[in-house]
Amino acid sequence: MRAQLLATPGPIESKPLTLTEVAVPEPGPGEVLIKVTACGVCRSNLHMIEGDWVANGVPAKSPIVPGHEVVGTIAKLGAGVDWLKIGDRVGVQPLWSTCGVCEFCLTAREQLCSSTTKKEITGETVDGGYAEYMLGYALHTYKIPDVLKDAEAAPLFCPGVTAYGAVHKAQLQPGQTMALYGVGGVGHMVLQFAALTGAQMIGVARGKNHLKLAEELGCYRTIDSNSGDPGEILKKDGGVDVSIVFAPSTPMLRQAIVGTKPGGKIIVGTFTDAGPFFFPDQKQIIGSVIGSRWEMEDVLKIAASGKVKAHIVTYSLDQTDEALRALKAGEIEARAVITI
Ligand SMILES: [Zn+2]
Ligand SMILES: [Zn+2]
Repeated sequence: MRAQLLATPGPIESKPLTLTEVAVPEPGPGEVLIKVTACGVCRSNLHMIEGDWVANGVPAKSPIVPGHEVVGTIAKLGAGVDWLKIGDRVGVQPLWSTCGVCEFCLTAREQLCSSTTKKEITGETVDGGYAEYMLGYALHTYKIPDVLKDAEAAPLFCPGVTAYGAVHKAQLQPGQTMALYGVGGVGHMVLQFAALTGAQMIGVARGKNHLKLAEELGCYRTIDSNSGDPGEILKKDGGVDVSIVFAPSTPMLRQAIVGTKPGGKIIVGTFTDAGPFFFPDQKQIIGSVIGSRWEMEDVLKIAASGKVKAHIVTYSLDQTDEALRALKAGEIEARAVITI
């Protein structure tokens, strides 16, 4: 099979990925072999490929196949997998496997799984979906509703579930105001899930394309973060009930905290630094990372009903470099997907 292999991380311009012919993997007990048809291209893939996370031990193996928003059909079943069948269309999210027995796994918060040996991350500790085949851990694969096309479904497995997890934690009520910081791959899905709650939405982003997308997705107001401090602007108008931050920007997180009402919530989904925190305002800063299997199933149900849809642009497996370069250059409005 053909796979995009990462051996030595480095700037995407230096072409760290090589399209290589490798053996098709054999599924072990509890695993399935998936014939990949689509894989989303995530900013975190770019971070890993460029070596930003080497100090944190990512990638954990070398060479590795990146990619963690994967859709395909089951080509082979490992021992003990009797609830799936060959030909089933399934997806895999970044959480490739968890222990299933720790307190987090038992309370539908398995993205917090505390196991150091059983928790695996797709495309970071095990091979991912930039390839013609990959292994899935059957308990962490999800059947895809028939109405969803492969390439459209792929981003549901990372931006989709990440956005849903954040909106879920925000507990938005009809009539409340929510400001989203960063209208990209995850952000454009946040707006679609938040719209279903009846909240009034404000989009904060850089660049005309992203602001236009925010308007199209129902924001009654957009703020160009290049043309003033959005936190101060929103504070002057009384502040918002909830801020959701997916922009990888410390200044934007701090602006979001300022622009949130006393007692409001700030949901954070990127590595940023919140800075000094003024406790008497009783604001809550809540971290949010991907989502549980239960939340993933919710995302698929909502997408199947037609209420949310990932905006995509597709590339072929040999154009993976091109997709990553476009992502780095800020040219991808919402999500790039490799189709195989
Ligand atoms: Zn992702
Ligand atoms: Zn666990």
